Amino acid sequence: MKMTDHRIVVSPAVDDAIRRHGEDTYPHECCGALVGREGVTATVPLPNTTEEGPRRRFLVRPSDYRLAESRATELGGELLGFYHSHPDHPARPSQYDLDHAWPTFAYIIVAVAAGRAGDMTVWWLKDDRTSFEEGELHHGDENSDSDTAQALHR
Ligand SMILES: [Zn+2]
Repeated sequence: MKMTDHRIVVSPAVDDAIRRHGEDTYPHECCGALVGREGVTATVPLPNTTEEGPRRRFLVRPSDYRLAESRATELGGELLGFYHSHPDHPARPSQYDLDHAWPTFAYIIVAVAAGRAGDMTVWWLKDDRTSFEEGELHHGDENSDSDTAQALHR
């Protein structure tokens, strides 16, 4: 029995884009969408504004969701999930994240400490939605994303 059924491959460009977005918005959280097919090959940065102010927390609005889906289609991929940063906090989902997560999507979290991106993790909501399960984040080769993803696809 495997530890987890959840795994995702991100291209180096995607890894870079997420880290840079987190550093650029520090000390605020950044957030965006993950686009691809077998693996994540593109990101769509989303505005991170809530009624509580930008520093407060990550929230994907229905309008963001629609934007992310249409951008994914334009890019020839699918909406695979979302990423956001945790400024000066570990790369683990908060209660707020749990309360606002959708099933089946991948949630990548990058920890940004003192303006520097560090740990990056990926999570999926459990079927009963009581908690997240950590998945495996794989870093794909820019030139063999589909091959890597294919090999990992059970
Ligand atoms: Zn969070």
